[in-house]
Amino acid sequence: MPPGIDPERLAALLEAERANWIRARPRAAALHERARRSQLHGTPQHWISQFPPPVPLVVDRAAGARLYDIDGHEYADFGMAATAALWGHDHPAIVAALRDQLDKGSVTLWPGEDHVAVAEELARRFGLPFWQFAVSATDANRFAMLLAKVTTGRQKVLVFNRAYHGSLEQAAAVLTPDGMIPEPGVELNGVDVRQTTKMVEFNDLGALERALAPRDVAAVLAEPVMTNGGAVIRPEPGFHAALRDLTRRTGTLLIIDETQTIPAGPGGCTREFGLDPDLITLGKPIAGGIPAGVYGMSDAVAAAAERYTEHGDGGLGSTMAGGPLAVRAMRAVLTEVMTDKNYAHMGRLAERYERDIAAVIAEHGLPWHVGRLGGRVSYAFTPSPPRNAGQLYPRVGAAARDALWLYLANRGIVINAMSGGALMSPMTAESDVERHGALFAEAISALTGREGRR
Ligand code: PMP
Repeated sequence: MPPGIDPERLAALLEAERANWIRARPRAAALHERARRSQLHGTPQHWISQFPPPVPLVVDRAAGARLYDIDGHEYADFGMAATAALWGHDHPAIVAALRDQLDKGSVTLWPGEDHVAVAEELARRFGLPFWQFAVSATDANRFAMLLAKVTTGRQKVLVFNRAYHGSLEQAAAVLTPDGMIPEPGVELNGVDVRQTTKMVEFNDLGALERALAPRDVAAVLAEPVMTNGGAVIRPEPGFHAALRDLTRRTGTLLIIDETQTIPAGPGGCTREFGLDPDLITLGKPIAGGIPAGVYGMSDAVAAAAERYTEHGDGGLGSTMAGGPLAVRAMRAVLTEVMTDKNYAHMGRLAERYERDIAAVIAEHGLPWHVGRLGGRVSYAFTPSPPRNAGQLYPRVGAAARDALWLYLANRGIVINAMSGGALMSPMTAESDVERHGALFAEAISALTGREGRR
């Protein structure tokens, strides 16, 4: 139970909101029944069945920063497909590029001019000279880890506790007081994580130094700011400098995963913080909604990678990676959408969204906090920002998160279904941010049974 919330009120609200959701969605409910006969859990990906609504939100279409469901409801979308749709569901520059490319072929296995332009622009923005294409951020991370192993001759990768870098078996582990164990529920994941993985808490430089000391770690794979797990977890002052120093001193490579931190700025956190990693991985928003990932590398990693791939593939690559459709979309995203002007809009709306939540938390005296990274906003049920993701577990607030999600969605606002966070897109309307603020205040009053002290 999150602190400040009355459990009976929460249970009653959750039940009422679930019932309201189902009652107003007969078509979605019927389709879900049908889907149960052909898809696991009746959903195209298992995790949709773990989202808050008892019947999934069944989308008819999406446009701008809005979703329209098959029962005729319209929603302001602040989930934006967990950054995959960050630029809007039909950004005109991306749609125009895709329409044009559709007439010119969507996969050829040959390069075009777009590939060079995209690699050059990525190098300019993120500071690493060489780039390759993948189909997803998961794949980009898998390939980056492989290249780190090839370059260093070491087998292990270090990831921070509760970080998410995609569906990677070797990262499906968690830290407990007794050390790292396979993530509960996935013990039989086919990989002995003790052989492949080391894990420490984010911001714990002492533990990091001890873990790297034996010089058996190929790479540290890290988000520059932790965005998964329901909060914005910032590096403490000096953390990134020390991380870079410790990795260099122990011959360990540093992979920065910018997949979810692109809302921080047009060159991600790498540019915002002046980071100097050996590899960078990116996915989701980079091709404006078309499946794609990219990974960039230093001269030294590129030299090792070229030697490694001179005669074979060694586990790198995918037929569909760098398809012309995705690469054309990337070029449009990089040159026409990831602009200072769009970032200014996203940042301004996120500031407003954050202020509205902070005001409600203060008015109700709740021991919660709200955090922001550029266009990304997240609140968590701890009085101050956590130092690491381990501090957010065991997950105290699952029922409250579900109730808040449903309360807002039943009234036309969709936030991230897993974390409760929100993303501002260049297509987000200020009036929707305003509406969210009013509804969030109402939802918290419903949960606490008190009016805010306005
Ligand atoms: N890296 C990070 C930081 C992520 O948050 C995610 C997905 N949430 C991924 C990689 C993997 O992205 P995908 O599922 O698109 O492969």
